[in-house]
Amino acid sequence: MVSRISHWIGGATLAGTSGRVAPVFNPATGLQSAEVDLASAAEVADAVASAKEAAREWRSASLSRRTGVLFAFRELLHANADELAKIITAEHGKVLSDAHGEIARALENVEYACGVPELMKGGYSEQAGTGVDVYSIRQPLGVVAGITPFNFPAMVPLWMAANAIACGNAFVLKPSEKDPSAAMWLAQTWQRAGLPDGVFSVVHGDKEAVDAILTHPDIAAVSFVGSTPIARYIYETGTAHGKRVQALGGAKNHMVVLPDADIDLAADAAVSAAYGAAGERCMSISVAVAVGDAGDRLVDAIAARLPKLRIGDGADPDTDMGPLITREHRDRVASYITAGAESGATVVVDGREADVPADGFFLGTTLLDHVTREMTVYTDEIFGPVLSVVRGATYDDALELINSNQFANGTAIFTRDGGAARRFQFDVEVGMVGINVPIPVPVAYYSFGGWKGSLFGDTHMYGPEGVNFYTRGKVVTSRWPDPATSTVDLGFPRTR
Ligand code: NAD
Repeated sequence: MVSRISHWIGGATLAGTSGRVAPVFNPATGLQSAEVDLASAAEVADAVASAKEAAREWRSASLSRRTGVLFAFRELLHANADELAKIITAEHGKVLSDAHGEIARALENVEYACGVPELMKGGYSEQAGTGVDVYSIRQPLGVVAGITPFNFPAMVPLWMAANAIACGNAFVLKPSEKDPSAAMWLAQTWQRAGLPDGVFSVVHGDKEAVDAILTHPDIAAVSFVGSTPIARYIYETGTAHGKRVQALGGAKNHMVVLPDADIDLAADAAVSAAYGAAGERCMSISVAVAVGDAGDRLVDAIAARLPKLRIGDGADPDTDMGPLITREHRDRVASYITAGAESGATVVVDGREADVPADGFFLGTTLLDHVTREMTVYTDEIFGPVLSVVRGATYDDALELINSNQFANGTAIFTRDGGAARRFQFDVEVGMVGINVPIPVPVAYYSFGGWKGSLFGDTHMYGPEGVNFYTRGKVVTSRWPDPATSTVDLGFPRTR
């Protein structure tokens, strides 16, 4: 029998009433493990009402009380990482070490939010006018919502919730319906950490729940991470309903390899960044742009490494790469390999022919060479274990290719030349740049975000921009009469 995953509202599990559910699978076995409730607009409204009530109290909680909860949550997350990692692997499919990596990055975000008393400090100008002081404060927005993708079911919710809660908001999470259990684990852990009921809620669902969030008058802000078409929709709909919105979209990340690069270093980086988590990372490398004579050496070095990757159940510690999230997604990724071959790319390693477990949603690693910019393998976000190599004669060819792309999440350059790296950092029109680092995810005290079709809105996620997003500024101009001129008996001698 499959288990049922229900909403978390007002500090308790609440069975869905919409009558709609979706199946949840273990992608490594292909078997359904649970069904998840899909919320109606009325159920979203219940969660928002409970959050609104809780937000009133939570914004009055002292900074030290809020920090205490954040520290307690951090300790529980750290101490129980094994448990959470197993939950992630069982529904997402990524290998356990990668699930631990996700939790480690989530922890960094929680640790950053523990510093909220420092982060929310305002400014103070004494005597801006005679007897007049001016100062700024930052206040929470109230109820804020997060809509998150399947690929980081613990980390992305905490990119948002850690700062949102630390700043004094109540947070309503609508996680991916494909791997919803991590969200429930987070909800219970927040409660164990002492967070008042209603400050963190979970409503499971699909478009119906998302639309209810985007149009609810009591939700002040929406953070979204997912694919570009949905990100655009979230941004347009949410802002049309008067909300603050940050919507992070899809990606097509390029890694430039210059002829002087250490090819072994670049090949190791390409393999881990293209095939880690089966390519289902928004910062995965999808295109290697090999400049000049780097091409043949790079392709040979990557191809030599691929047979060594063990593909299987992510719960097995010997596995290097797990399955894809669903059968449909696996088939869609495989169809891109067919399309690439038909349009003239060289299939150096073909994931469709790999020896992978028959059950489950597995696909082997694929390496395509001589990919050109018109091919769908190049134009589309594939989100699977497929690496395309595009050949370029010069650095300028590589730069022009990247800067013409509709996506601009992350990019990387591999070179031994500091001047070339510095020029790339200056020239490239992408939000996050790695220099000899293939996956340049910013640490928690910077902010995460792409440019162009990879981000709608003007605020990047987490870090200082996250704190800004979840608070609004207020400036107070205050005049107090000089006590010497006061007519009130203040109970102390007037000196002037
Ligand atoms: P997705 O866009 O399909 O879903 C994201 C969220 O939107 C989910 O909660 C889903 O339930 C909801 N949703 C889906 N269809 C919807 C619709 N029609 N209307 C309203 N809501 C809808 O993304 P996914 O497949 O879960 O995740 C993979 C995508 O996320 C990739 O494109 C990846 O690049 C992107 N991603 C981006 C970043 C980033 O930082 N830019 C990070 C992680 C993932």
